[in-house]
Amino acid sequence: MADLLGRAGCLIDGEWFVPAGPVIEVIDPFTETVMGDVVDAGAEVVDDAVRSAAAAHPAWRSTDVAERAELLDRAADLLTRDGAAIAALVSREMGMPISLAQVTQAQLPADVLRATARTARAFPWSQDIDGATLVRRGSGVVGAITPWNMPVHQIVAKVSAALAAGSTVVLKASEMTPYDANALARIFLEAGLPAGVFNVVTGTGTHTGAALAAHPDLAHVSFTGSVTAGRAVAGLAAAALTRCTLELGGKSPAVVLPDADLPTALAGSVSSGLVNSGQACNATTRLLIPESLAADATGILAEAVTHHPLGDPADPSTRQGPLVSARQRDRVLDYIADAVAAGGHLLTGTGKPSDAVPTGFFVDPTIVTGLPEDARAVREEIFGPVIAVQTYTDVDDAVRIANDCAYGLSAEVWSGDVGHARAVAGRLDVGQVKINGVRTRNRPTVPFGGVKDSGYGRELGHLGIEEFTDVTAVMS
Ligand code: NAD
Repeated sequence: MADLLGRAGCLIDGEWFVPAGPVIEVIDPFTETVMGDVVDAGAEVVDDAVRSAAAAHPAWRSTDVAERAELLDRAADLLTRDGAAIAALVSREMGMPISLAQVTQAQLPADVLRATARTARAFPWSQDIDGATLVRRGSGVVGAITPWNMPVHQIVAKVSAALAAGSTVVLKASEMTPYDANALARIFLEAGLPAGVFNVVTGTGTHTGAALAAHPDLAHVSFTGSVTAGRAVAGLAAAALTRCTLELGGKSPAVVLPDADLPTALAGSVSSGLVNSGQACNATTRLLIPESLAADATGILAEAVTHHPLGDPADPSTRQGPLVSARQRDRVLDYIADAVAAGGHLLTGTGKPSDAVPTGFFVDPTIVTGLPEDARAVREEIFGPVIAVQTYTDVDDAVRIANDCAYGLSAEVWSGDVGHARAVAGRLDVGQVKINGVRTRNRPTVPFGGVKDSGYGRELGHLGIEEFTDVTAVMS
């Protein structure tokens, strides 16, 4: 994969090239040095890519689903073959600990490709309802726009479903992590994907991404990223009457019920809150515990954090890498300062750049207690290793606090009684609830997506494929 570094490329109609345009540096967040760069390709390149995807669509849509599924399986095998190198690439691009990258950026995407292939084979492409046959086909060109935080998984979640559906794709991956998108494109070509079915354009969101979202010849825009960018993308797509899927941010609660095993629940919640240095849309960054157990929780939480050592992301024992950029580190530190100003107590963390590692954009794992419910650190997505502890009086109060949030992506519930946990889960206004430490990554066909400001539409599984299809009702 080392040959991928340098200037990341665009892929249009099966041909690689580097466009002309402004150049953006790609920075390794651990060494703080330049890894390479990427060109902000712009509207003309986007237009060429959409034309290529549109030209490839009729033949791809008519390709037998068994063949489309087989291609995804082949891509999964190649991703497994190259998994170690791709995980190392992501780890360098954005600082993810290598052990996490192997699981989430190599193994998980390969699992998703295989699961999507299986789901496509069993998908109801044709269904008889009330004397009509509902025929589902790939809807056309999908513009896929993805972030940097779980980059390979986020690309594969969209692209596998679109390809399975019989749609074609133009991908604009994050300008901060362009190399893994190039690596995946190579894999799809090697797997035998026809030219034009999958195209890649490089560049920034506001220039190249916006040109893609606004393009009138798309059937669908599938976006994963922040709420601010999601609003802009949805507006651009709406102007062209293009359908949208929006996978946006989160401020996910972990609700520890009074009957939970406290050490297990707190250690598990801290792990989910600090995963990828808190740079996960479904990180449980609000920890809800019974008021009566708050004193017992303090020591357990402080101890749990010691199991998340900071270090070189390439070291398999590192549990927490740097944040993706100096800007992101400074943003996180601002939130911590704001939390302290709002009356919060730092149970762990210092509110300063971490000095545990000599280079890199590190922030120590930070647990804040005693914040009022309206504090920004309680209400806004920080996207860093910061967990706000909130206390509740009874289960109704826990549900109220959990739902008192602009976001609705994900939640965890911890309890000694799964039935009780499921009953509480059913009252939470979120797209996904995980009980007692279940991991999303172990369920690659379970739909993922949010409600409220976390967006709309679903990825993965049956619903993920359906997203990229149109239905024609044929009656006789
Ligand atoms: P971001 O919104 O800045 O960027 C995401 C992508 O959108 C990038 O490719 C970027 O170039 C592009 N973009 C930015 N502005 C755009 C615009 N105006 N028009 C078109 N494209 C634009 O987000 P980020 O910092 O890369 O990622 C972090 C965010 O992503 C967090 O808010 C996180 O919660 C969210 N996220 C959500 C999910 C989910 O599935 N719900 C998963 C991962 C990350």
